[in-house]
Amino acid sequence: MGDCIFCKIINKEIPSEIVYEDEKVIAFKDVNPAAPIHILVVPKKHIETLLDVSKEDKDLISYIYQTINKIAKEQKFAQNGFRVIANCGKDSGQEVMHIHFHVIGGKKLGDKIVD
Ligand code: 5GP
Ligand code: ZN
Repeated sequence: MGDCIFCKIINKEIPSEIVYEDEKVIAFKDVNPAAPIHILVVPKKHIETLLDVSKEDKDLISYIYQTINKIAKEQKFAQNGFRVIANCGKDSGQEVMHIHFHVIGGKKLGDKIVD
């Protein structure tokens, strides 16, 4: 979609540090990492928020989690563990209106999921 930052990353109009890519999904390093590992896993389909996910996206959402699994093993942080976060809407502070899954790890994360 026209002015979507993540669509621009998908289309290589904006550079990013890509860690995984195939026809359905792209994963790249967050430009402002919250932890030593902070990867954004993003479907290439432009879906604005989690509220816009529909039944037709069933396989895609499953595929995203399979991709996270694959990346965690390939990048060797699967065993140490990690956290997956997806923000939705105002109270979450969602900044980019193209759904994405933050994969965070590389250190012992706080006990609280939210502050
Ligand atoms: P949100 O708050 O929408 O869940 O997360 C958006 C994330 O995208 C933020 O963590 C932010 O650092 C990251 N981000 C925003 N713009 C860019 C960009 O141009 N490149 C990369 N690699 N990450 C970005
Ligand atoms: Zn988009």
